[in-house]
Amino acid sequence: MIPVNTPLLDGNEKKYLLECIETQWISSEGPFVKRFEDQFAATVGRKHGIACANGSGALDIAVAAAGIGPGDEVILPTFTIISPAASIVRAGGVPVLVDSDPNTWNMRVQAIEQKITSKTKAILVVHIYGLPVEMDAILALAERHNLIVIEDAAEMHGQTHRDRPCGSFGLISTFSFYPNKHVTCGEGGMVVCDDDRIAERCRKLRNLCFEPERRFVHHELGWNYRMTNMQAAVGLAQLEKLPQHVQRKREMGLRYQQRLADASEIQLPLTRNDAAENIYWVFGIVISDAVALTPEDLAAGLAKRKIGTRPFFWPMHQQPIFESMGLFQGQSFPVAERLARRGLYLPSGLGIKNNEIDEVCDAVKSILSGASRIDG
Ligand SMILES: *Cc1c(COP(=O)(O)O)cnc(C)c1O
Repeated sequence: MIPVNTPLLDGNEKKYLLECIETQWISSEGPFVKRFEDQFAATVGRKHGIACANGSGALDIAVAAAGIGPGDEVILPTFTIISPAASIVRAGGVPVLVDSDPNTWNMRVQAIEQKITSKTKAILVVHIYGLPVEMDAILALAERHNLIVIEDAAEMHGQTHRDRPCGSFGLISTFSFYPNKHVTCGEGGMVVCDDDRIAERCRKLRNLCFEPERRFVHHELGWNYRMTNMQAAVGLAQLEKLPQHVQRKREMGLRYQQRLADASEIQLPLTRNDAAENIYWVFGIVISDAVALTPEDLAAGLAKRKIGTRPFFWPMHQQPIFESMGLFQGQSFPVAERLARRGLYLPSGLGIKNNEIDEVCDAVKSILSGASRIDG
């Protein structure tokens, strides 16, 4: 069996976890939480880190702390996980979508400006699958139109954008520590920012909006998105290995690139764009329209050989839940729609072995070569 993701826990994870148990510090009050927050913030060049329960919760906090409220429009890509759009909708904001670039799979930066209205409050950038969004243009646009930038850097641990860390752009950035990210704590997330007041706001929102004057008396609603000392212990051990993790991911990606280079039926991820070399959060492929094979067919063929895959994201404008809320009616974003219908990703976890990558590539090519081509 080659699972779609196998984490790598070969550092101080066990030692730090044992420390939690031996010291009996297991809750969010434990000392690893602050250590992890401080070290993580320093790694991405931010003043503050606010650890939380998961990356989706980090986005809820970031969107609320940025002051997104009823009627505020927030521009984001349609091709992403649902979390950022869900955070905007729950805050009462209005998600405004842009299509993807067919090569980087990131949001089309040139499509943003025409979406700006008098109600636009923020741009929520989501870096997709390992290549950063072109930030220079976005920061310039945000400055010109006085917009907040929120950066969802969940897939960008250890990635840089022209030598500046991803997660250091805009007012607030968020990360996830789900087991398929380059740094995991099982479940976990982090909000990072530079502004002291925003950081304080995030800490309050994370902790049910308890007030210092009288605990259990509340003036507003927050969440319990606290991270446990045990999660932080694992996270800290993972963070110590981040450079090795990024290096291993790049090796993995390049091995896939080399072994799949002759498969003309599929589009591979770009090895780099103008801002960075790919860190391959996942190794995605897009099947050519000329091949009579869907990603579901390929996934089924690989599953028969005990190889796990995941489909690509499903665009926000075609989410049944948003449709039922009356959002995005009649909108179409052809690039994202095609990526969703022709893409999938291959086993890309940090724990994958080179011989397993080779086995996956052989299986992919064998299945593709058996598929017929659609002419014309
Ligand atoms: C993983 C991910 C999230 C969500 O993180 P969770 O920890 O699973 O809630 C959010 N945004 C992006 C871009 C992600 O890849």
